[in-house]
Amino acid sequence: MVPLKPADAIIISLVIAFAVVSFTFLPKSAGEKFVVTHDGKIILEGELSKDSEYSINGSLGQMKLLVKDGKISVVKSNCPRKLCIKRGSISKQGDSIICVPNRVIITIQGKGEIDGVTG
Ligand SMILES: [Zn+2]
Repeated sequence: MVPLKPADAIIISLVIAFAVVSFTFLPKSAGEKFVVTHDGKIILEGELSKDSEYSINGSLGQMKLLVKDGKISVVKSNCPRKLCIKRGSISKQGDSIICVPNRVIITIQGKGEIDGVTG
């Protein structure tokens, strides 16, 4: 096991905090869009309703994401353990796929999740 770098630890704690908030305050409902971050920066956002393939760049190189039937999954990644691929597809608000070696996080968001209640 390689020890976690501080940046990884920060990313993981952010994700955990986000997940806890989601579980505590929000009903688990179908997501609307996905957000992909690399090193904490948003590199891709998209709709789950549109079937598509995306190529993104993680710390280890290119990754391929597949959006199909309202779900997103990692289909290609050169990380050693391929945990992000084994995670399968996600579709529910607050769900996430984390690829620690690539420093990539894919998170599902729902309607007005972060901006609060509108109307
Ligand atoms: Zn991975």
